[in-house]
Amino acid sequence: CSVFDHVVRAPEDPILGVTVAYNKDQSPIKLNLGVGAYRTEEGKPLVLNVVRQAEQTLVNDKSRVKEYLPIVGLAEFNKQSAKLIFGSDSPAIQENRVTTVQCLSGTGSLRVGGEFLAWHYLERTIYIPVPTWGNHPKVFTLAGLSVKTYRYYDPATRGLDFQGMLEDLNSAPAGAIVLLHACAHNPTGVDPTLEQWEQIRQLIRLKGLLPFFDSAYQGFASGSLDSDAQSVRIFVADGGECLVAQSYAKNMGLYGERVGALSIVCKNADVAGRVESQLKLVIRPMYSNPPIHGASIVAMILRDRDMYNEWTIELKGMADRIISMRHQLFEALLARGTPGDWSHIIKQIGMFTFTGLNSEQVAFMTREYHIYMTSDGRISMAGLSSTTVPHLADAIHAAVT
Ligand code: PMP
Repeated sequence: CSVFDHVVRAPEDPILGVTVAYNKDQSPIKLNLGVGAYRTEEGKPLVLNVVRQAEQTLVNDKSRVKEYLPIVGLAEFNKQSAKLIFGSDSPAIQENRVTTVQCLSGTGSLRVGGEFLAWHYLERTIYIPVPTWGNHPKVFTLAGLSVKTYRYYDPATRGLDFQGMLEDLNSAPAGAIVLLHACAHNPTGVDPTLEQWEQIRQLIRLKGLLPFFDSAYQGFASGSLDSDAQSVRIFVADGGECLVAQSYAKNMGLYGERVGALSIVCKNADVAGRVESQLKLVIRPMYSNPPIHGASIVAMILRDRDMYNEWTIELKGMADRIISMRHQLFEALLARGTPGDWSHIIKQIGMFTFTGLNSEQVAFMTREYHIYMTSDGRISMAGLSSTTVPHLADAIHAAVT
């Protein structure tokens, strides 16, 4: 008899559980399009050359020690991360009204930001889009916020429900927090246009809502780090306040290093200083201080002009391969005469395609074709290659006919 006898088995995580099921499948044709991790054309994980180079330099530097970082992490990493998302000439940075703290990748940054808001912000309600990354509601609920939703995706058009989004934000209580995907919305791949972002910005500022950006794919959407940061930058340019959670998992391929940052843009330097002092009180009892290795890699790459340039080239290579997979899949469905309009495959942005396949069709594709994906019909385009596109197209064709 165990003191834990009453503990019931929890269900697998809806996203990570896809990989668990995939690993159990013995079929040679099995295909994992579940988790959002980049794969090469050969289906292999990728470590960027520039990351290998930075690691080598770190290893060779015998003056480096393994002491604890400060609670807020590596200073150079924080400085460079703010420049990366807000722009190197950002007035908000020059005015010292941004506080940036190193956190445990995107998830940890969201969690620290959420806890800070739950402790210190008056309107403890956060609005998240429908649908959104499955971890968002859990992270913010456990941080102590109350989670509500706004309309975002329209299944009929497989595009943005812009009207619905504006209506829901308009009826949110003044001061409410709004979670926005900075680019490459997960799972839909549907982003507002710049003009739509501008309208969203005006409404958010008019209503006094507080924007909290989740930037997990900067550079991965368009291949350009600056273009993918435009949404965030128009909000910072108006002088208002906002939060940003950054992740280097995808754009530097540092998934398991858990490296990311939380920035809070404040009205002035005095507020930013006080906010940072409180962020330390959130972090200290949670994990004391963040890990040093990944942050050192990022800081080196962002600081060194040559390494930075090499990174942008490798990043564009990843983004371009994903875009090419979109075109190949679209063409393959056209060639098969698969019924329906599949143009959303090439219109959607970033790592994922929200296919529009329902959970029965997904179950059919897993059973008959050994293709693994989340039950909402999301496929990770980075898990595809020229050799596996025909297999996926056959499966989709069979699922819808
Ligand atoms: N936000 C979104 C929208 C994501 O898709 C992800 C990664 N799947 C994250 C945050 C956080 O990922 P990580 O903690 O690995 O940086």
